[in-house]
Amino acid sequence: MEERKNETARDVSEAAGTTGGGAAERSGAHPHPLADFIYCPRCGGEFRPNNGKSNRCLKCGFVYYFNPSSAVACFITDPQGRVLVSRRAFEPAAGTLDLPGGFVDCFETVEQAVHREVMEETGLEIESLRYLFSRHNIYPYSGFEVHTTDLIFEARTGSFEGCRPQDDVAELLAVEPEALDPSQFGLRSIAEAVAVYKARRLAAGR
Ligand SMILES: [Zn+2]
Repeated sequence: MEERKNETARDVSEAAGTTGGGAAERSGAHPHPLADFIYCPRCGGEFRPNNGKSNRCLKCGFVYYFNPSSAVACFITDPQGRVLVSRRAFEPAAGTLDLPGGFVDCFETVEQAVHREVMEETGLEIESLRYLFSRHNIYPYSGFEVHTTDLIFEARTGSFEGCRPQDDVAELLAVEPEALDPSQFGLRSIAEAVAVYKARRLAAGR
């Protein structure tokens, strides 16, 4: 229990150290995402920044808040302790390593999203799903910066036999935890998650 507390504290400081903190990032190189939205989606009126988190239409009064999208990623292990890693088929970061996962749909829980995304990308059923920690990220898509909250999970599966790359996955690899290399993971939040996960696995001797 004590050890878990220490790990959590270290994770928080690691996140702050690598990103400079959420507020600093928002006010720095990245403008607020609503800066790109200049017309009201309801009436086409002038759509102006409201309070730093929302825009308000000068014509009809519509207020739109922009929050990060929920996304999930999962460390799946087999009985030998190997981790299932995917290779991204598409941009952003095409060709780099990733974890099975993706965006949470409307009307589903994050746990349902993990099971669905893992099934869609690998064909695997998973069990013993457990939440680990989160990271924030910016996911460039279609010329727009999609701000995400990435929820990192771990789960087990009986075997990687029969898993097959599908959907936006080009290849699936079974990797020993000590061979995980964060620099090969193209999405920043996932690379950070891999570094934390690898350190925990090695510290726990498993
Ligand atoms: Zn309007």
